[in-house]
Amino acid sequence: MHRNRIEYGKPTTSRLPSNWRDRLPDAGTYYAAHVVKLGKPNDKGWAACRCPFHNDKNPSASANLSTGGFKCHVAGCEATHDMIGFHMQLRNLAFADAVRELIEGAR
Ligand SMILES: [Zn+2]
Repeated sequence: MHRNRIEYGKPTTSRLPSNWRDRLPDAGTYYAAHVVKLGKPNDKGWAACRCPFHNDKNPSASANLSTGGFKCHVAGCEATHDMIGFHMQLRNLAFADAVRELIEGAR
């Protein structure tokens, strides 16, 4: 029995800084840079935009520029995320790597 066997597939990068939640970008700034056809937010912060997770011809998703939430309204896609989850799916990243990109300002 190998007590210290190597586990492949685990992230080898360093831990996230403890204050990473405070360093996430502003949701409005983030979505303005990462979605197409971002509209004006309503009084709850939701703004229409094109969904990057299906072939969206018209703005059929909403991003919340206050909370960072994301919701696609098209049946069969229905992508629902917070900002980190959105970035994970958009860039095909694991959670910690998505957070690291977000706080480092990757575009
Ligand atoms: Zn969609």
